[in-house]
Formats: sequence, structure tokens, C-alpha cells
Amino acid sequence: MEEDQQTNPRSSQICQRVILFPLPYQGHLTPMFRLAYILHTQGFKITIIHPQQFSPNQSNYPHFTFKSISDGFSDIQSYMPEQPDASFFINYLNNNCINSFRDCLAELLADHNEPPVACLITDAEYYLAQDVANSLKVPRLVFWPCTIVAVLVYRDLSFFYDKGYFNLTRKDPEFETRVPKYPALKIKDIVKIATNPKDLGEFQTNVVKQIKASSGIIWNSFIQPEEPILENLRQDFSVPIFTLGPLQMYFPASISNLLEQDRSFFSWLDAQAPKSVIYVSFGSIARISQSEFQEVAHGLANTGFPFLWVVRPGMVKGSEWLEWLPENFLEKVAGKGRIVKWCPQDEVLAHPATGCFWTHSGWNSTLESICIGVPMICSPCVVGQPIVARYVCDVWKIGILLENGLERMSIERAIKRVMLDKEGEGMRQRISRLKEEVTISFKEGGSSHMSLKSLIYYISSLQFL
Ligand code: UDP
Repeated sequence: MEEDQQTNPRSSQICQRVILFPLPYQGHLTPMFRLAYILHTQGFKITIIHPQQFSPNQSNYPHFTFKSISDGFSDIQSYMPEQPDASFFINYLNNNCINSFRDCLAELLADHNEPPVACLITDAEYYLAQDVANSLKVPRLVFWPCTIVAVLVYRDLSFFYDKGYFNLTRKDPEFETRVPKYPALKIKDIVKIATNPKDLGEFQTNVVKQIKASSGIIWNSFIQPEEPILENLRQDFSVPIFTLGPLQMYFPASISNLLEQDRSFFSWLDAQAPKSVIYVSFGSIARISQSEFQEVAHGLANTGFPFLWVVRPGMVKGSEWLEWLPENFLEKVAGKGRIVKWCPQDEVLAHPATGCFWTHSGWNSTLESICIGVPMICSPCVVGQPIVARYVCDVWKIGILLENGLERMSIERAIKRVMLDKEGEGMRQRISRLKEEVTISFKEGGSSHMSLKSLIYYISSLQFL
């Protein structure tokens, strides 16, 4: 308490509001709602602005105030591409919500019946929010939900594009070589980031420019594994940086789920041997082809290990749900494998029966695995995932990367390496050490603990521009 008062003069009587504007994607919403809870426990009143179409279940958050803004989604059908990817919607939101966002923010700032606004925190990808914040003279902090190195790589995407990386194919010898500027990464990792690299490069250039113009960056990460990269970042981004993750250490429970959670498999999971189950999930956005889906199914069935597989409706391109499973698959794996649409991932990872996490290497999933100490098999799809997978497998050595995509023989081999081989034992030891580092970073004086204190102090003493 005494120390709190030293670092935060207003800790006992903060009476300010923080306005958050999260991006309505699961991997962005979950950590940002966790951040909102943390700020709330530190004494701030929380207001969440959200696009009308993506309304969170407000009864889950009785302490927060919500403001819905119009997003024009009812008109979107006329020019939506056949297979829209996440960046289509993010661009759409940036361009179509901006006026209603400005009006909403202006109204909130003018409301003198509420405590004064300390700052605005938006997802980094709402880059147009910086101009709005500047025009209304409110400090904007950005929340970055991925690994630290991703922002540097995104900053350089246009450079990689000009260098011709995205024209390279598997047959080019360069494809497998390391990126000179980021020796942890291979050129093929960069190629995998974007299906439309020119557009993504331009979009990320805007995002990075507005991060640099912001009043600070909040990172869902902890320092230890990313320390060398953080130094690199500090040389180019002169704004304050707060590394207070992994945020699930504060609120481990799954919150803000956009899909309904299935819990019916828990009695089956409880009956499995310790560390015997492969948990498979490719997150909330990644999509795979029908043939990749079949390879996953064969790979899982062939190893003989029990498995719990999350198949999100729409995850398999051109299908509703399980239509493309190999013939008689469900009969073949009856009792051995379960398939669900969505589950409480944090509880599954923490379950004693879970032995390995086969993931698409989303940043939240990766942090959740580290916090619990479960080694990974990585099959990244797009954006930050290939970067995260490379760090998990080659730098931190806590997982195995399916280098050549989804193919049943490689899947079977990777599962056996993690579950049965000495190599898997080594990964378990290294991830346990990393988990210990997380615990240390949250103790008094640890990096995440100190970072949270400085963030609270910083927010409560920010001046309007
Ligand atoms: N998740 C979940 N249930 C599932 C699958 C995923 O609760 O069945 C959660 C997972 O715990 C994580 C988030 O969804 O917090 C996915 O975020 P991530 O950054 O890993 O991937 P993204 O969905 O953004 O690609």
C-alpha cells in the first residue's frame, strides 16, 4: 500500500475514466477486456466503445459502461469480396466507424456528470483513431495484442515487398534462408504473413506511423523472452512502452467469448490419462482448405493418442462444419477423439490430461500455453502467426513447427516427437522455466508488476494535449 502511494499518488482515490475501443476479434477482444478489468481494479471507471454489429454481452460486465457506434454493416454486402479476410473488415471498420467514433468520443468527453477522462486506449489497428484523438486533444495509448517482433516486421513489410520476397516460391533457394535483419526468421515466414502483401504493407505502415504518434504502447507480453527485440523497438519508437502481460495471469478465465463454449467433453477429458491428450485449435480466424482438414484428421487418427479438436464452423473453406471429414472418421475415433465447435481453452490447457497443444500460433494461445507449461505443435497460417511459431520453435524451443504445412505423415511424426521422444521432454523443461519466468515477472519488483504500476501512474498523470 505504502509503495503503491509512492508510485501512484492517486492510487487510493483515482476517480477518472478510461475509454477503450477494442477491435471486435476474439484474439484482440479477450486481452483488451482483461486490460479493462485490470484498470477497473486500479480504480478507473471503464467505458467501452464498440461497433453496433459487434455488441459484447453487457450483462457479463456490470461494472463497465458501453457505447455503441454505427458501423454501416448493413450496407456491406454489396461490395464484400467472396472470401473476406480479417484485414478487409479491419479496413472497413477504420473507414466506416471513424465519424461515429469521433462523435461518440466528443460526447463522452463533454459529459461532466461522469469522472474526467484520463485517456483513450484503442487497438493499434484502429489507426485512424489517432487523428480523432488529436482533434479532440485526448491522449491515445495503443494496445498491441501480438508479439513485439511482429510490429517491427510489419513496419518493414513494404521493404520486404520491394525486395521481392513475396515473389519467391518453395523452389527458390532463398525461400529457406534467414532474413538478414531478423535472423530468427526465415524468408518463408515473411512470405506467409500476407496473402495480399502490398495492401497489408500499406495498412501496417499507417498502423505503425500512428503507434509512433500515440502517447504510449501497452503490450500483452512480458520482458524476459522478448528483451533483445524490445531494445530494437526502443531505438525506433520513442513513446513509453508498457509490457504488462501475459494478461491472463490477472484473469485466467475465458472472457468475452464470441462463440458459445461447449463443456460437454469434460467428463471424457477427466477420464483420460495424465498428459495423454492432444488439444488442437486454430483460433478464431484461421481457415484451412478441405484437403488440409482431411490431413489433420488422418494425422490425428493415425497417432492413436486421444485428442480434443476445435473445429470452428466456417474454419474449413467451402464447408459449414464437419462435411469434409474422411469417411467413417467419427466411428473410427469413437471414444479416442472429440470434436467441438468452441471450448474454454484456458481450462483445457490447464487440465492434467492435456499433454500437447497443436496451435495456429496465435499470440493469446501461445501465451496461454506458456503460462500453463504445455509444449506446442505449430501450424501457423497468416499475419503474426508465422513469426510467433518461429520464435516458439527455433528460439525458445518449446514446440515443433510443421514446416511443410499440414500433411499426415509430418503431423504424426511431430506428435510423436512431442509426446514420446526425449526432445519433447526437453521442451517440457524449457516451457516450465519460461512459465517460472512469467511467475517471477508478476511478483513484487518483477517486470510485468513494475510495468503495471508505471502504467497506472502514467495514465493518472497524463495531461490533455
Ligand atoms: N479460444 C477459446 N476457445 C477455443 C479456441 C480459442 O476460448 O475453442 C480462445 C483462446 O483461448 C485465445 C483466443 O481464443 O484466447 C484466440 O486468440 P489467438 O490470439 O490465439 O488467435 P486468433 O483467434 O486471434 O487467431
